[in-house]
Amino acid sequence: MQELTHFLNGEYVKGTSGRFDDVFNPATGEVQSQCPMASVAETEKAIADAAAAQPAWGAMNPQRRARVMMAMVGLMNRDMDKLAEALSKEHGKTFPDAKGDLQRGLEVIEYCIAAPQMLKGEFTDSAGPGIDMYSMRQPLGVVASIMPFNFPAMMPLWHVGPALACGNAVVLKPSERDPSVPLMLAELFVEAGLPAGCFQVVNGDKEAVDTLLDSETIQGVSFVGSTPVAQYIYSRATANGKRAQCFGGAKNHMIIMPDADIEQAADAIVGAGFGAAGERCMAISVAVPVGEETADRLIEALIPRVENLKIGPWTAGNDVDMGPVVTAAAKERILGLIQSGVDQGAKLVVDNRDFSLQGYEDGFFVGPHLFDNVTPDMDIYRQEIFGPVVSTIRAASYEEALKLAMDHEYGNGTAIYTRDGDTARDFAHRINIGMVGINVPVPVPLAYHTFGGWKKSMFGDLNQHGPDSFKFYSRTKTVTSRWPSGIKEGGEFNFKAMD
Ligand code: NAD
Repeated sequence: MQELTHFLNGEYVKGTSGRFDDVFNPATGEVQSQCPMASVAETEKAIADAAAAQPAWGAMNPQRRARVMMAMVGLMNRDMDKLAEALSKEHGKTFPDAKGDLQRGLEVIEYCIAAPQMLKGEFTDSAGPGIDMYSMRQPLGVVASIMPFNFPAMMPLWHVGPALACGNAVVLKPSERDPSVPLMLAELFVEAGLPAGCFQVVNGDKEAVDTLLDSETIQGVSFVGSTPVAQYIYSRATANGKRAQCFGGAKNHMIIMPDADIEQAADAIVGAGFGAAGERCMAISVAVPVGEETADRLIEALIPRVENLKIGPWTAGNDVDMGPVVTAAAKERILGLIQSGVDQGAKLVVDNRDFSLQGYEDGFFVGPHLFDNVTPDMDIYRQEIFGPVVSTIRAASYEEALKLAMDHEYGNGTAIYTRDGDTARDFAHRINIGMVGINVPVPVPLAYHTFGGWKKSMFGDLNQHGPDSFKFYSRTKTVTSRWPSGIKEGGEFNFKAMD
């Protein structure tokens, strides 16, 4: 049985708490390694060492820090297959999808090469007589990132990249479900030239997280995960005087207008709803066809597509559409919600409740499910299922469809399928959701834009990656300077306008 480690001060370090959690191979159901759960003392030491390493890194000119990012891009491309294999083995997602997870993270590292430009600051010459005013952006110091299981490469890279580019040291707490890739990324950063101690990986659970939230050294906290935990982390971090950005769960609606290309819309729903077994915060989990005729055509187009999805282990390479879910507990929860949908009166038009994959009977595979005639009061509509289940809720009109998406408590992503520019424009303008796709089912913004939801999908204000991330991981200092006289002319006692 492999014993995983932490990554501290540039090295793999064994856990000393004596507490471990099992890491599974979701395709076989076997425990493949043990992940150490850090104690308060181990976490505090990791933070203290990060604080010792940070000043020199923060003082290094941003162009040099950017060169570490450039080297990291090369190293990640060099090790892409090795990283993707480790990722699929612990997460269960298909091999091409694991590469996508790494690629979308890598793109944020590429963006971070712009650190000198992003941190340039502002200057006003002659803001008053003989007075210049300038603003600079400085690192926060030590920041913490607490990450979810579903994108074990992309999510850490979205946070660690900009945090380091701004000159901070980072303590990363990966998900205990799939910690290997974050450890490998930390090692690669050291190979890329990052000084030891600037990127600490502390594996653990609530004990490590609460230590980070209560530490006086930690200045900023980024969290990605489920909404109840996001809300808890936001409250505790901000009550302790830290800046925080906490990203939560989702229930993404796709509205299909009567004029949409139904074949295209059905392909989009299948990819966006069942890719990664639905374990994506941008998964389409609700289809909202407008009008009975649209709904009937859509369901007819969806059924064969959903029935023909290929399910299998990551070792099948390009031959599978989706893998297993992450744990036996996740499988049980998803099947329980599917049952609740049936019990509450939804029509299960693709029913795979008895699905089992030959040769992988102990794996955490859940077959794809499609519901029709879902209503807003049902648990399958209200809750994030985070599994391979798409619920169809029929709307009588565009306004009714819009209202459904707007009334839902989550506001991460949404999409509309239509051929009418006016409807699409109206939707993009009025919807109270952070990321909108127009004939695009998974509207994940690229690295140089920002990623974040509204409502219960996000607590805080600044988004992930793009310009917001440089703002989150740095703070502004504004200097007003007058040379060479000033005080020689006598003190200023009144707060005056600069005229
Ligand atoms: P999770 O909330 O269970 O865990 C996330 C992290 O929080 C893990 O590191 C975990 O160890 C820690 N944690 C869990 N419970 C805790 C507690 N009580 N106290 C302190 N720390 C705790 O989430 P998950 O199952 O790993 O990830 C799936 C969720 O993440 C889904 O809801 C998904 O929508 C969401 N997600 C959101 C985004 C986004 O950008 N909005 C992106 C990816 C995933």
